Amino acid sequence: MNNYQDTSLDRVWQQVCHRVRGRITEQAFATWFDPIVPISKPNGKILLEVPSQFYGEWIESHYGDLIASTFKEISGKAVSLEYRVAADTTIVKEADPNGKDQKPPGVAYDRGTQLNKRYTFDRFVSGPSNQFAKAAAESVAHAPGQTAFNPLVVYGGVGLGKTHLLQAIGNFILDRGAAHRVHYTTSEKFTLEFIQSIQNNRTTEFSERYRNIDSLLMDDIQFLQKKEQTQERFFHTFNELFQQGKQIVLTTDRHPSELYGLQDRLISRFQSGLIVDIQIPSLETRIAILQKKAAEDNLKIPYDVLEFIAAKVRNNIREMEGALIKLLALSSLSCSEITMEVARRALRETLGRNSAAAPTIDDVIKGVCAAMNIQESRMIGKGRKTELAQARQVAMFLSRELIGASLENIGLHFGGRDHTTVLHACRAVKKKIKADPQFSARLERMRNHLTN
Ligand code: ADP
Ligand code: MG
Repeated sequence: MNNYQDTSLDRVWQQVCHRVRGRITEQAFATWFDPIVPISKPNGKILLEVPSQFYGEWIESHYGDLIASTFKEISGKAVSLEYRVAADTTIVKEADPNGKDQKPPGVAYDRGTQLNKRYTFDRFVSGPSNQFAKAAAESVAHAPGQTAFNPLVVYGGVGLGKTHLLQAIGNFILDRGAAHRVHYTTSEKFTLEFIQSIQNNRTTEFSERYRNIDSLLMDDIQFLQKKEQTQERFFHTFNELFQQGKQIVLTTDRHPSELYGLQDRLISRFQSGLIVDIQIPSLETRIAILQKKAAEDNLKIPYDVLEFIAAKVRNNIREMEGALIKLLALSSLSCSEITMEVARRALRETLGRNSAAAPTIDDVIKGVCAAMNIQESRMIGKGRKTELAQARQVAMFLSRELIGASLENIGLHFGGRDHTTVLHACRAVKKKIKADPQFSARLERMRNHLTN
């Protein structure tokens, strides 16, 4: 099966993009068209590979006709388009030592390795939650099989960057161009292929294939749990590679010692190398990740909006990216600017009702002013009267608590006050909550009012 890029299709696609670009906004183009990879199929159809289901549906329903008619304009004949989510399939690929294996620019998925080209170390934002894992992954990528980090096991919750780091190792090794066979797979795929090899009497070929790998990158090994026979096969594969000094990197959603239904001897093998975790990133790191994504795609998104998204989606970077995509979708749909209003809607649709009730800093200011009977302009002004100062402190405190906004950003919303002022305000309110039950009850009412 020929899976490689068809250069004539590439040329046509470039022209299609060129025309489409003139017809939609730059932002819409960057969001929806940059990630598409066209592939021609033997039956004359054209397959458009997209990063996710959501993307595919969106492109098909909003730009499907435009793409089809532009294709027709350029090629002179009607084409039939299909959409497919680029999958993480398993293919072994040897890096080309002569560097001849040039990829066309803008292609996100390398059909040779199926490594996602966007998953690089450069694009991986580090913070206290993941810097150790990243450093270990980089060491391994620089000297596969030659460090004490073998196997390297990266574990952590869903959507926190395990696959990204794992594939970054693969991309890094391949980009260096040394003759080094990198094999990326998931434990599910490994299991499936193993079962198929048994059914087809091809277990020898299966083992042979794995024996010739220089670096094995296996994602999500938790799926090996309870699969005795596959574990057996994996154990042998592991040992063979390990004894030859080949690099092995594994990811899992929990610490290996908590992988129940996995043979002890496998677990102790994993523990002979280095086990590192990825934790939930801090608000600052989450904002940095969003800023980086926006910069990479040339998107101009107000800082407020990024901070809002980062504050709302805490536990999962993939979900956070989903919210960002949704935001871009909504804004290109309504041809409107990216505003807090659109952001709030995007989050409501991504996370469901509850989270969407979340107020913005301006809502908090409005709410507190109403509850304490103060004019908004005075709240952000310079006045220092006691009740005014107290209302300001309460609003700052609630902005921090309900929205998770940074001290700097809160300061900006209150007429450009310094972050130390905000910090002081938050501390003062906390103290008062403890000391004054009446104040505390009043604050509670405001809090409820703002979140409902
Ligand atoms: P996991 O495999 O742990 O479930 P992924 O590696 O698939 O998570 O990450 C989910 C998404 O979040 C990916 O698009 C990835 O690029 C992004 N992501 C996660 N962590 C980071 C980070 N530190 N910097 C940049 N992007 C990240
Ligand atoms: Mg993953």
